[in-house]
Formats: sequence, C-alpha cells, structure tokens
Amino acid sequence: MMKEKILHLLPAAGTFYKANLHTHTDISDGKLSPEEVKAAYKAHGYQIVAFTDHEVCIDHSDLNEEGFLAMTSYEMAINCTCPNKTDAKTYHLCLLSKNPENTAHVCYDPKYMYVGNCGKYKDQIRVASEAERVFGLECANEVIRQASEAGYFVTYNHPNWSLNTREDYMGLRGLWGVEVHNNACKVLGYEDTDPRVWEEMLRGGIMLNPVAADDFHRPEDGFGGWVMIAAEKLDYPSVVQAMERGDLYATTGPEIHSLSLENGKLKITCSAAEQVVVSSAYRRALVQRTEQAEGLTEAEIDLERWYHEPMDGVRENSYFRVTVYGVDGKKAYTRPFTREEVKAAFE
Ligand SMILES: [Zn+2]
Ligand SMILES: [Zn+2]
Repeated sequence: MMKEKILHLLPAAGTFYKANLHTHTDISDGKLSPEEVKAAYKAHGYQIVAFTDHEVCIDHSDLNEEGFLAMTSYEMAINCTCPNKTDAKTYHLCLLSKNPENTAHVCYDPKYMYVGNCGKYKDQIRVASEAERVFGLECANEVIRQASEAGYFVTYNHPNWSLNTREDYMGLRGLWGVEVHNNACKVLGYEDTDPRVWEEMLRGGIMLNPVAADDFHRPEDGFGGWVMIAAEKLDYPSVVQAMERGDLYATTGPEIHSLSLENGKLKITCSAAEQVVVSSAYRRALVQRTEQAEGLTEAEIDLERWYHEPMDGVRENSYFRVTVYGVDGKKAYTRPFTREEVKAAFE
C-alpha cells in the first residue's frame, strides 16, 4: 500500500519565537529589574520572557511591545522541613499563566515569602487558595492540580539541584514540562544539563515537554538554553495555543527548521549537526551521523520498524523523540510524539 501522508511534527508555516521560560528579577532574588531583563533578552534575540519570580506572580504586560511578549508567571517552592535547609530536598515548579491577567496564587503559604525582595509584594498577592506546603509527592501533585485548574502550565525545574531522586519525580502527575537544561544551575556547578530525568519520566509513561531555560538571576546565568515556540503570531493567545499543542523544541544551540513524517520516514532539516538521533521507550536508538566537519543539515530516518516491530517482541513502542547534536556539542530536543498521534503516517 502506498502511503502518501505527510505529517508535520512542527508547523510547516509559522514563525519560531525564542523564549526564556524561567527568569528572575529584583522582584525576588534576581540582580536586574524587569526592564533590564527585557533589554538583555531582546539584545540576545529573544521575543518571549516568562518572568518567574519566586512566589510572586505579576502581570508584566506593560513591558510588551512589537517583537516582545512578557509571560505572567511565578516559581513556587515546596521545601523539606529538615533543620539543615541547605542540604534539604525541594521541588521548584514554574507556573506559566495562560492568561496574562491571571495572577491567582494557588496553595499560597506565607512562610515562603522570604526569597530576595518577594516579601515586599506580600500585600499585592491575589490568593486563590492556601496550603501548608511541605516537601512530598502529595503536596506537589496538589499544587500541580490546582495550578492547572487555575490556568497555568506547570514546569518541573532543576531536579538535580533540588536533590530529587526517582521516588520524588516518577509519581508527579499533570506537568506540562521538565527542565532538560537549567543554565544558572550549570553555572553554579549542578548537573541540570541533561535529559536523563525527562527520559526516565517518558519511559515511565509520563508525557511532557522538554524545557531548556536560563533560570536567570545574574547576567552570567543568561542565554544558554531556550525554547523555540512555533506560533502563528507573537501574541499571548497564539503563544499559549502553540504551547498547548507542543509546537516547540528546547535547545542549547542547534536549530530545527522542519520536522515531518513522510511515508514512514522522519525528515528533519536543522542547523549543522554531527548526528540526529531518534530515541524511544526502548533501548534501540536510530541514528544518522556524519564525520564531516561541516555537519549535516538534513536527515531522513526510517521509522517503519519503530512503528511496526514491537521492540521487545511484545509491546508496541509508545513514543519517539528527536535529538539534534550540533557540531559544537550543543543539543536540541523535540518533545515526545506518541504512537497515537502519528499513526496516520504509518497506516
Ligand atoms: Zn528554582
Ligand atoms: Zn528559578
């Protein structure tokens, strides 16, 4: 049977906008004001910045202009009550609002209002619900549930810096994304620069988007990881729709220009890459690589076996994702594409 179906895994038309989805200002413990942060990101070619100050959600729409969009958001912590706090586990979640005017604080706990200057904003906070936040899956999942209901995308930040282990993240439910690269943690010497936790979660059946972000506090934290969001135009609703559809990729450098499935083959065009890799729920990876210094800028990888051959002889492979390894060693990650959403390209 001839299959003619072309499935675009990233929009064929539309523009990619460069976004930092994790940013602090002097509203909490960042060094720069929101205006200075905006100027720095604009100078590095970004169009979208989510202002995720600790524990304070503020609508920064006053910073919007042609070519720049501020996302309303905040970062929330769920700390351990252990006496030695510097050695204690925590969860840090960014809540990215789908509506710029929505600044509802869920599971508000006043004892967290100590980070940098955030206490000064205590009286401006719009409390939607209160909770005593104590480290643990139960509390984290309740925060994620309430945040999602209140209209936020929730991202799970820097699992390594947070001292999280499998039992802390394999039970998380309802997340939109997880950080595969946190640049501030990298600068501080933590290994929050690889997709290991994300991959474990995917293989555990938790589908979520990859996020590369700066967690900008100081200028040296900046411009090391970002998300490219393919939206119809640069306005809040269009960017939110693109994030809901997963029309994005995370990167520390390489660009992905197009990604599609044609006649059972994955086709990708990208900036100069040493290799393009398809990873999935099982061990077998599919690789196209070059030894040429200039790299490859397009690749075609046959996914028929991924679709038709159960990898352990029994179970169907439930998803695949693509990594572009740039010739400079930097990487770009697509989101996972599930068997269900791509089956039309194979049947
Ligand atoms: Zn954090
Ligand atoms: Zn942060």
